Amino acid sequence: MKEAKLESLERLLETLLAAGVRVVGPRRDGGRVVYAELDSPADYTADYIAPANSPKEFLFPKSETILEAAYDAAGVKLEDKLDDDYPATVILGVRPCDARGLASLDEVFAGEYADEFYLRRRAATTIVAVSCLRCDADCFCTSTGGGPDDPAGSDLLLTPLKGGYFVEAVTEKGSALLDGHAGLFDDAPQRALRDRAVAGVKSELRADLAETAEAARRFLQNPAAYDDERWERLAYRCLSCGACTFVCPTCHCYDIVDEGKAGASRRKKNWDACQFDHFTLHASGHNPRSRQPLRWRNRFACKFKIYPERWEVPGCVGCGRCIRVCPVGQDITEALAALATAAGKPTG
Ligand code: SF4
Ligand code: SF4
Repeated sequence: MKEAKLESLERLLETLLAAGVRVVGPRRDGGRVVYAELDSPADYTADYIAPANSPKEFLFPKSETILEAAYDAAGVKLEDKLDDDYPATVILGVRPCDARGLASLDEVFAGEYADEFYLRRRAATTIVAVSCLRCDADCFCTSTGGGPDDPAGSDLLLTPLKGGYFVEAVTEKGSALLDGHAGLFDDAPQRALRDRAVAGVKSELRADLAETAEAARRFLQNPAAYDDERWERLAYRCLSCGACTFVCPTCHCYDIVDEGKAGASRRKKNWDACQFDHFTLHASGHNPRSRQPLRWRNRFACKFKIYPERWEVPGCVGCGRCIRVCPVGQDITEALAALATAAGKPTG
């Protein structure tokens, strides 16, 4: 693994923007910070724990047209909207939990039903993560197998030090970015400095949930979990607003809809959410997940059973966003604790 020192993130940003690279990074938006396109180095802010959104929308947009159809006297004309070239993009300042979330999405979208829209954008994108030196009470990455300096899903990992960053090239793409801008990088300082920088936040992060999440997974494997009465209590406050799924770096459900009129129409791929009541509504009117407890059961089974079993990656990376965003204070860690108790793990 190549290591180096970067003195100025601003200069890297400036160089990338001057070269016409599309750069996305943490940017202030009113009272919050979001991952957004950056127009100048001044748009970048380093003052954030986790941006309000996840970076998935730059690889898997909220809404995109995948096909256009036209019909006239000459017949039907279909136009596939998959591009040959997506713009070279660097997502800078990605938190390690979010980078790990992208690694999970990679498995989903490159799997049995490969999604070329995602895969081509992913191929054109370089992920430059920045290790966390701060966390808040909702962060629990170390309980899901990650950490504030976890390189999974990143191409380049920067760890802030006094007077610069300790740089690690995690992939060939990361090495290429390093080599392509060699003038901006110096020799790597001692690795011990980087380890010391993240030691403080490691000691502050919740580490008590790893066993709880594992016990919850065991509970979900038990067929009796399907009809367990706990789902009623766990989901009773939930409003089905779907916010938790939209901010989640690993949630990936979408719907395909046709819009327009005869003669000119488009087929769109739009984000959807398993927490919406119409998500599983059949044309017949039957809905196998007609009530919120059933939808909550699905969300937990997806994250803690289906993801690890089908794709062997985490379905939850412990970013804490779903807790921060929920308008009624639903907390995934409390729900996990309740499920773990059901599996026989005392959580007191
Ligand atoms: S954000 Fe909260 S209220 Fe909205 S769907 Fe998720 S758990 Fe329910
Ligand atoms: S389930 Fe919640 S804590 Fe886990 S990755 Fe998704 S938003 Fe983050």
